[in-house]
Amino acid sequence: MVEAKAWVLKKHFKGFPKDSDFELKHEQLHEQLRDGEVLLEAVFLSVDPYMRLYSRIRMQPGDVMIGTQLAKVIRSNNPEFPVGIHVVGPCGWRSHTVSDGTGLTRVLNDWPLNLSLSHALGAIGMPGLTALYGLEEVLAIQPGETLLVNAAAGAVGSVAGQIAKLKGCKVVGSTGSEAKVAYLKELGFDHAFNYKTVPSLEEALKQASPEGYDAYFDNVGGYFSSIALTQMKRFGRIAVCGAISTYNDKEPQTGPYPQLSMVLKELRMEGFVVVRWEDKNQESLKKMLIWLQEGKLKCREHVTVGFEKMPAAFMGMLQGDNMGKAIVQV
Ligand code: NDP
Repeated sequence: MVEAKAWVLKKHFKGFPKDSDFELKHEQLHEQLRDGEVLLEAVFLSVDPYMRLYSRIRMQPGDVMIGTQLAKVIRSNNPEFPVGIHVVGPCGWRSHTVSDGTGLTRVLNDWPLNLSLSHALGAIGMPGLTALYGLEEVLAIQPGETLLVNAAAGAVGSVAGQIAKLKGCKVVGSTGSEAKVAYLKELGFDHAFNYKTVPSLEEALKQASPEGYDAYFDNVGGYFSSIALTQMKRFGRIAVCGAISTYNDKEPQTGPYPQLSMVLKELRMEGFVVVRWEDKNQESLKKMLIWLQEGKLKCREHVTVGFEKMPAAFMGMLQGDNMGKAIVQV
């Protein structure tokens, strides 16, 4: 038997999550695997904003928290996933998992020895792909254009801004602290500001790009977006990636509404979910890994050590503690 730990959603979050919404459970897992099964041991776990959003759509009290992890295969009855390899899998907040292989992906064969495997949950993983597809597939970003990105020092935003720079754009980033503003400048953003301290968001956006914005990669939604839309150029494009400023609302926010800006500026707004382009993932991850090895893409992590700290790491990410990808190391 293997002693496994799992974090369970004890009750639905009301507003911002609290420690008492989570419960740590212990389970005994059988080591005798059926044909096709593997036993996984978590090495790194991801904490992501979607967990807050999906908790109310896809989860019931008592369910193990949803999530992706980087795990090592420690027993195997599945030739596709032999003992010793590492996989990314949708195992939830579990220390050990018996899996039939569904949804598991092997880490790229040519993963560099000097690069932590945790990046398979970040820049060379789902958040990186989100940035890439939002820019290439949704916004069809072009050299010379001006891009606005918010939550810009986070996992998705920091990669989106850097890829846009690689593609010859002017990039403006919004983020929540002075240290993060400095980090964005280090990454090569043309302008960055702290949305929490600027006297006027509208003025900050105008100052950063008086001519307006061709494209807007929106991670935040809510009030920020209602102002950003007024600063778009005519025929501007908006990729709606997320709306983290609304995920912890007890009641849905109301207005101002986007229609007037959209009509007057003839904007195009498209929401997207990263899995739409899943068939391109392997080739896209290889491309980003090359950028990383060439020093064109930098990725930072905010690592919390200890499986016991999963809820704290999750809540910390929601309130902006992280610069780069928020990760838990077991
Ligand atoms: P981040 O690493 O960016 O972490 C979340 C960040 O959000 C925090 O660090 C904080 O940074 C910022 N934030 C929190 N509350 C607010 C607020 N009220 N207003 C503005 N910013 C806030 O997370 P990810 O990069 O993983 O995710 C970014 C966005 O992308 C989320 O909306 C997420 O749901 C979305 N997403 C969408 C996907 C898709 O397929 N469509 C896939 C993956 C992510 P700060 O200090 O700047 O406030």
